[in-house]
Amino acid sequence: MTGPRPQPGILDITAYVGGRSTAGDAGGRVIKLSSNESPLGPSPRAIEAYRAAAGELHRYPDGGARDLRAALAKRYGLDPERIVCGNGSDELITMLTRAYIGPGDEALYSEYGFLMYPIAVMSAGATPVAVPEAGLRADIDALLGHVTPATRIVFLANPNNPTGSYVSADELRRLRDGLPGEVLLVIDSAYAEYVGANDYSAGAELVEDGGNVVMTRTFSKIYGLAALRLGWAYCPTDVAGVLNRVRGPFNVTAPALAAGLAALADTAHVDAARRHNDKWLRWFTTEIEGLGLTVHPSVGNFVLVCFPPGEGRSAEAANDFLMARGIIPRQMAAYHLPDCLRITIGLADEMSAVVAALAEFMNKG
Ligand code: PMP
Repeated sequence: MTGPRPQPGILDITAYVGGRSTAGDAGGRVIKLSSNESPLGPSPRAIEAYRAAAGELHRYPDGGARDLRAALAKRYGLDPERIVCGNGSDELITMLTRAYIGPGDEALYSEYGFLMYPIAVMSAGATPVAVPEAGLRADIDALLGHVTPATRIVFLANPNNPTGSYVSADELRRLRDGLPGEVLLVIDSAYAEYVGANDYSAGAELVEDGGNVVMTRTFSKIYGLAALRLGWAYCPTDVAGVLNRVRGPFNVTAPALAAGLAALADTAHVDAARRHNDKWLRWFTTEIEGLGLTVHPSVGNFVLVCFPPGEGRSAEAANDFLMARGIIPRQMAAYHLPDCLRITIGLADEMSAVVAALAEFMNKG
């Protein structure tokens, strides 16, 4: 091969493919349930702030995201100096990986963990190690059992996408306590705002009482701002210093900062989005189970629905059936779950449409 060569490992990456947004030639209404977006959209106040930012597009953003960090710190009771904002939490995952891992190193993630972890690790020339789960849930003992002298990072999405499962605050602490101090534990709490379980923690307290835990968060899910690409990380002081060295000087745009600030202030909108999700997650789970399909218990804004393998009622056939009706789920082959589809909790009539379509699918001749 002639021409420029990428770094080792990069050509082994299977590129991330996002959820589809078109449903072929279905015509009519499209119901997009493929990317865990908020069906209620962002707060009207965030849209207003975004529009207002249009008058200042010739100005660079505040590279230090001072106002947003202060607001996040106030809301969650955190130290603003230890918050770093990113172009979506994806960027923070990538930056942390580049900063803490290199060729010869390993990063652990749970078997059905979010796909960006192995992608980020391979793009840094290191080796991702998928650690077996137990019942589609991260297995803390297995994670600890796979730590070697080469391990630099452990990624854990809590709750996890695409399984919807979570580990308790006690289990999270046990994971942290069992890791050598030089191994970075990245707790990805992208869906934290949806979780009502009493034994759940997004992980901020673990960041505060140790030097090797980072929590990442996003405005893409309950805040409904996925298009703007805005996330944040809560870090030990040294890690925040590292991220501030490696990030682009203006990695977060001014409209994103403005909209994020307004979204954070509109707690009533977030509460409404949470209530909507609670109600329709419960309803949808019951209805789908009533059709004889397996739904994995989810604490996020999506469910993993599993189909009987083989002809006729398979996940692939269900995907085609839904797509032909303008309903877009997420196929799970990339996650090694080819018998399942992930379906985001959408609007009430969207969920009814999915149930009606899957009932037809299951009952067809
Ligand atoms: N972590 C998890 C677990 C996710 O599901 C997602 C979105 N699919 C992200 C991180 C990235 O979110 P964003 O970059 O939009 O903040």
